[in-house]
Amino acid sequence: MMHEKPILIREDGLRHDGRKPEDLRPIKMRVGVLKNADGSALVEFGKTKVIAAVYGPREAKPRHVALPDRALIRCRYHMAPFSTDDRKSPAPSRREIELSKVIREALEAAVFTELYPRTTIDVFIEVLQADGGTRTTGLTAASLALADAGIPMRDLVAAVAVGKVDGVLVLDIDQLEDEYGEADMPVGIMPNLGEIVLLQLNGVLTPDEFRKALDLAYRGLKEVYRLQKEALYRKYYSGY
Ligand code: ADP
Repeated sequence: MMHEKPILIREDGLRHDGRKPEDLRPIKMRVGVLKNADGSALVEFGKTKVIAAVYGPREAKPRHVALPDRALIRCRYHMAPFSTDDRKSPAPSRREIELSKVIREALEAAVFTELYPRTTIDVFIEVLQADGGTRTTGLTAASLALADAGIPMRDLVAAVAVGKVDGVLVLDIDQLEDEYGEADMPVGIMPNLGEIVLLQLNGVLTPDEFRKALDLAYRGLKEVYRLQKEALYRKYYSGY
């Protein structure tokens, strides 16, 4: 629903919520939040709140989906009906099907699937509250849940969206900035390896802006990665 465009960059150069262009929202991360999953994580970027649960590796069911040389990763990204301001239909939307696929592909790059032939690894991403950046928050949470399940990975995956609002490149855009801004670019990387595993762009950027936006994302992702490792240490090293 489009209303009159709000001011996204104020006269003092700050964003509508008081952040500087290069600021992340307040971030919280916790692993091992669900008793019945093999691995789980709850991640919040500002008001965006996402839980991820991992089951597996376990014997593939139905058996015909099994791959002879590696594990099959299945991924379901879902927005809870109460996660948005208008009640969202519980039926899977085209958007949810697309996001499940891009998140799965990003995770496939990280997991050593060849260690577990003929098994499945199921990743459930449930958006509890949506305020922009749910795919990146979901991917960040999913990689933590995989680590919590003890599944060997090349690296964690850290993700954040950068955007352009009122002509300014900004880190970690929220829903208002996504809705009224000029560009939205979610980026997922394996920070230690420096490899990009998810990159999408809605809107328009010049090649120069694109390079600067990617740079801004990498700077933010250093902090996201630090917080991911801290969340894992908190669970696995007592006294940390
Ligand atoms: P992302 O959540 O990864 O930024 P989008 O750019 O598609 O993905 O969505 C931006 C934001 O718009 C979401 O985080 C959410 O706050 C809102 N949104 C998306 N889909 C819906 C929907 N079906 N109903 C209400 N709000 C939605």
